[in-house]
Amino acid sequence: MSFSSKIGNWFLQNKRDLPWRNTKNPYPIWLSEVMLQQTRVSQALPFYNKFIKRFPEICDLAAAEESEVLKLWQGLGYYSRGRNLHKAAKKICHELNGKFPTKFKELKKLPGVGEYTASAVASFAYQTPVAVVDGNVFRVVARFLGISTPINSTEGEKIFKEKAQLLLNKKQPDLHNQAIMEFGALHCTPKKPNCLFCPLQQECVAFQLNRVNELPVKIKKTKVKDLFIHYFIFENEAKDLLIQKRDFDGIWKNLYVFPSLEYTKKPTLEAVKQDFKSNFGWNAKIVRFDKKPKHHLLSHRKIQAYFWKVETPEKQFYLLKKQFNLQTTCLQTIKDYPVPVLIQNFIKAYISSS
Ligand code: SF4
Repeated sequence: MSFSSKIGNWFLQNKRDLPWRNTKNPYPIWLSEVMLQQTRVSQALPFYNKFIKRFPEICDLAAAEESEVLKLWQGLGYYSRGRNLHKAAKKICHELNGKFPTKFKELKKLPGVGEYTASAVASFAYQTPVAVVDGNVFRVVARFLGISTPINSTEGEKIFKEKAQLLLNKKQPDLHNQAIMEFGALHCTPKKPNCLFCPLQQECVAFQLNRVNELPVKIKKTKVKDLFIHYFIFENEAKDLLIQKRDFDGIWKNLYVFPSLEYTKKPTLEAVKQDFKSNFGWNAKIVRFDKKPKHHLLSHRKIQAYFWKVETPEKQFYLLKKQFNLQTTCLQTIKDYPVPVLIQNFIKAYISSS
């Protein structure tokens, strides 16, 4: 029996019943694949259900404001996926008559759609014989064929793509691709793969050579950098607050945060107070909410955040608003803005203490 028949049989007996698996409609398939990038199924599933309920058709998504899309995306991380999802939906609805591209090459022209997503949509929705290569597929192929080339090297990407394509069942690419991804997610797992009861055991090079724990090989590339952020909660007498849209490239683009000072090295408190004065223009009394920082981890940033309360005279409040292009909100309305989880957690704590 071939590799593909074995994992196909395994899949039919072991697959999870997921909503995007019971359709050939490219919209839910695409939505789920974008959400599943670097995200576990259990984490993505509630977000998928929320999106499909609110935007049953792609043009419903295209018609929404970006801030609503980001609000629904809040908590899923990697927000560029949400922004690109919205851009792609607009492109399909406004430039392609609401019709999803059917060709692999055309799919790749959509914002945020790379090789992986295009392969998944093309094979699941249209049975295009193109192999999907995600983290699970890299692992299964590396172990099954005993390949030591790092999966995140240029050479590795080329080799694994070729090998995955050779293993592909061209007659049933949808079943094959779903099967190998699910097999990697549930059976040939990163730690403690179930080799003893594996249908591939006889031919699996890594198992036969006792190299399962060595493969796949990955080069450590991204250095996680420290980031120290001091957020300032400017509050006037009426208990209004000021927030700012991060409308520039970098982390959390287009999400809302409190005005802040950011540092790559841990500053002294005196330095923060000095910088506050020179940045925001007056010698305010600033009080930290908590002496301990809030820790937050992103894929390439290790954040320590501090929150400061600033009782703000009316005149300063409106000067700041004008100078930094800020928006006025309050504890009742701030919940409607898309914000990073770090800010959301602070707001929850702030509301319950107010
Ligand atoms: S034998 Fe082990 S390493 Fe090889 S494919 Fe099966 S689960 Fe993966």
